[in-house]
Amino acid sequence: MSNTQPFTMHTRSGWELLSAAESNPLWLRVACLAYARCQPNGHTPLPRGALALALSSKDPDTELPVIPNRRTVYDVVRGAIDKGWLRPGSSSRCLRVPVTVSYGKGGHRAMNMACPWCDRPTTNVRVQHGRMAS
Ligand SMILES: [Zn+2]
Repeated sequence: MSNTQPFTMHTRSGWELLSAAESNPLWLRVACLAYARCQPNGHTPLPRGALALALSSKDPDTELPVIPNRRTVYDVVRGAIDKGWLRPGSSSRCLRVPVTVSYGKGGHRAMNMACPWCDRPTTNVRVQHGRMAS
C-alpha cells in the first residue's frame, strides 16, 4: 500500500455555499466557513461580529435576519472543535482548520505564518471594576 495520500482540490466558493446553507447545523456551517476562507497557515481571522452575521438566518415571518448571540456563537465554535472540524484555539475571531485537512501554498512551512488575530500583541493588564489591576 502506498504511503502517499491522493490530493484533491476544493473550491472556496463551494465551502462558502455550504456555510450559508441554513439547512446545515450551525457547527457545520462554521467549519465550512473556515474551510472557505482559511489562509495558507490554516487560520481564518474574522472581524468582530462577522461570524455571528455569517451564521445568521432569515426569520420566516419577517424575512429579517436573526443573528445568533455571543453565547451561541461560542457554543457553535466549541461544537465544531469537539467534532474535529476545527482545531482547539478556534474562536469567533479566528477559526483554525486542522492541519490534517488543509495547508496552503508553502506546504507545512506556511503553518508558521503569523495570524493577525492569534499573534497580535497582547498585554497582561487586566481591568477590574474600572481600575487597572497590577
Ligand atoms: Zn488565527
